Amino acid sequence: MVAIPLCPQPAVDVVVTLQTAASNDTVTVLDVNIDDGSGDNASHHDLDSQDEENNDITDLEANHGLADLLSDPDNILESCNKCMSNGKSRRASLTTPSVYKDVVVVGNGPSGIVLSYFLAGNWPYYNGCGESINEMLHYRLLAASSATKNPQNSSIVEQDLRFLAQGLEGRSTNPVALLFDILNHPDADLGLELPSLLEWQNNPKHAVEHVVLGKGPPGGAWQLMDGNVLTISLGCWMELPQMNFREWEATQEARCVRDSRASVASVAQYYCDYVLAHRLEQYFVSNSEITEVTRIPCSSAGLPTICDNLPADLQLDAAEEPTRKVRRHTISEIPVNSQNGRELRKRNRTLWHVKGYTRDPANGGRKKDFSYLTKHLVLATGSSDSPNILNVPGEHLDFVLHSLKHLEQLITSGQLNQDSDPVLIVGAGLSAADAIIAARFHSIPVIHVFRRTVDDKNLIFKQLPENMYPEYHKVYQMMQDPSSYDEYKAFEQHVIAEIRPDRRVKLMGPLSCGVVKVSHIVICIGSHPDLSFLRGIERNLGVHPGLPIDCKRNPIAIDVSTHESVREPGLFAVGPLVGENFVRFLQGGALAITNHLNQSKKLPC
Ligand SMILES: Cc1cc2nc3c(=O)[nH]c(=O)nc-3n(C[C@H](O)[C@H](O)[C@H](O)COP(=O)(O)OP(=O)(O)OC[C@H]3O[C@@H](n4cnc5c(N)ncnc54)[C@H](O)[C@@H]3O)c2cc1C
Repeated sequence: MVAIPLCPQPAVDVVVTLQTAASNDTVTVLDVNIDDGSGDNASHHDLDSQDEENNDITDLEANHGLADLLSDPDNILESCNKCMSNGKSRRASLTTPSVYKDVVVVGNGPSGIVLSYFLAGNWPYYNGCGESINEMLHYRLLAASSATKNPQNSSIVEQDLRFLAQGLEGRSTNPVALLFDILNHPDADLGLELPSLLEWQNNPKHAVEHVVLGKGPPGGAWQLMDGNVLTISLGCWMELPQMNFREWEATQEARCVRDSRASVASVAQYYCDYVLAHRLEQYFVSNSEITEVTRIPCSSAGLPTICDNLPADLQLDAAEEPTRKVRRHTISEIPVNSQNGRELRKRNRTLWHVKGYTRDPANGGRKKDFSYLTKHLVLATGSSDSPNILNVPGEHLDFVLHSLKHLEQLITSGQLNQDSDPVLIVGAGLSAADAIIAARFHSIPVIHVFRRTVDDKNLIFKQLPENMYPEYHKVYQMMQDPSSYDEYKAFEQHVIAEIRPDRRVKLMGPLSCGVVKVSHIVICIGSHPDLSFLRGIERNLGVHPGLPIDCKRNPIAIDVSTHESVREPGLFAVGPLVGENFVRFLQGGALAITNHLNQSKKLPC
């Protein structure tokens, strides 16, 4: 019998006692008591009982050998957390100390990186040279800066973004995204590469305490895509402020500098280098997954017991608090009062509790829990986390893939080669085209199935200039005239009806149906965000409440000048989640959030 104290600073003393029996190499955990010190072992888990908790013990046993368990209390913490969250009884609570941050950013792709750059105290200033680019905007910028306290040195972060952005037009529907893009990439849509109209200054006084959490290294989706694929955008449009992409590319060993588009691998490397070059790594916690976010009223009852650095304005009057029964002080609930002619608006005092874990790659991927409290939660999770599925019988079979990267791995490992049965590729977008290009490059026969007709005017190929995207136009040619290409068969206006375990696939078209034999299936029909860590809050966030968030059809509804959710005060969103899919335009979101935080600092509490 071994007794192991668990948490370094537990809310209650939690002790796990393990009783063991060893036979040959197998060690069995017979009994686990989670003891909250009350002497009441109501959360006792017994192998003999047949209720739900039985599975928890099996989980514990399956997850760790006894030696592992005893040598590392973290293992027990993790397993017990699992047991307790699965089990019915929650008598004891295991508590991870919480850390307060002014802003917590979920997602470390380009959106999270550029926001971190702003929050680190880097503010943009108009250089006054844009009269010939957009005369109206030029004069508005001059007028806006003269309306501030320090007209000689006024940043756009301090100015009225709605006023500046009114009437701007371009390839985004978000006026602040257009404002930032016009200043950052003047006349880019005319194919010009003009110098930015922004100058940047770092002022430590403007820095906001924040953390950026992401599942992998900085770069987000770019770290997960196939590195050999070329960007759709020009390489220079992938850059973030104050680090010229072309100049950076020229310093790289591979020196694979291109005139126009960049490889995904170099964009991914650029984002990692960007974080280092601007000393942002102090704000980044990589290999971290947020598993749960809860909204808590800023009341002593709702706050976690352990948080040493909660700011004074969030610590409540103890005498006042017990009488309160409702959430208080959110922007939407507090009316704007007029007192002696002076506008008074109370600040948002709802807190977000952000929980998750960080994996330590140097330590076998071991998990360590974290817990943050914040007034400002920013969702920058992109839209690539969950591949869309067809929802047909057999889609779960192991030869059915949902990512191009997985296809590349099979090709590299030799599991797929020119002697394989055809690979069936589903979809008529650029990812499907990339999969076709990859397979044909290795002489693997392809069966291509897509729902639309080849003449559909919405096909993406029709929107791409042929001289810039020759590889995609080649695929489009194949779709139009499949009989001219060996080892390529196209099934236009067809869908998969069933995938059988013997790798036979039933296809259905408007006039016929048939069965084909394949080696693998690659389904490339897009992806959607995974916001399940919001535990239901996400259902209320879209422009169509009640429906899942979808970057095209149901983006998160925000106030475009602040990027704050129109329904959840204190929750912000950027990037594809609000319909901004391109790196050029998502950067306006960082400007809007920083502008809003700066404005709200000036409001009285
Ligand atoms: C195939 C393809 C090609 C593209 N080509 C271009 C192009 O040429 N030009 C262009 O401008 N854009 C392109 N895009 C779009 C581009 O990916 C986005 O513009 C950009 O990456 C969005 O940045 P983001 O930071 O908002 O999200 P992402 O880059 O998607 O990063 C979000 C990160 O958050 C992480 N995350 C999600 N949930 C959690 C969680 N619970 N805990 C922790 N982390 C989490 C995700 O894993 C991800 O790493 C392309 C996209 C794809 C799929």
